[in-house]
Amino acid sequence: MNTFSVKTASKNQMKDITSEVIRIVKESGVNSGICVIYTPHTTAAITINENADPDVVTDMLTGFDSFHFEKLHFYHSEGNSPSHLKSSIVGCSETVIIEENSLLLGTWQGIYFCEFDGPRNRKVHVKIISE
Ligand code: ZN
Repeated sequence: MNTFSVKTASKNQMKDITSEVIRIVKESGVNSGICVIYTPHTTAAITINENADPDVVTDMLTGFDSFHFEKLHFYHSEGNSPSHLKSSIVGCSETVIIEENSLLLGTWQGIYFCEFDGPRNRKVHVKIISE
């Protein structure tokens, strides 16, 4: 398993981690298999979406905030229940197929680390399973 750190700069942020994951896949030498990208945090997430137009991730963050979770009454004393909700909505992992030692991502797809309670230092685990 490989682990790398992600340092986030704001409360809500989507950081493109595609190049780090591609590097790990290349170094693994695995020709055909499965790559799991997982973050062990309860107020962060992993997702795959467009990385061609940076406005897309800006719009996604705007969309997540449009739910206005902060207007709800929550019991969790840490005060970050909206961040926990966003984490579970997006999910803490993604799985991508590896063929010919490359991730089978679409032309416009990138892998994003989603911060919902930053800024923080986070971790991402990458597990590659050979076919
Ligand atoms: Zn909390």
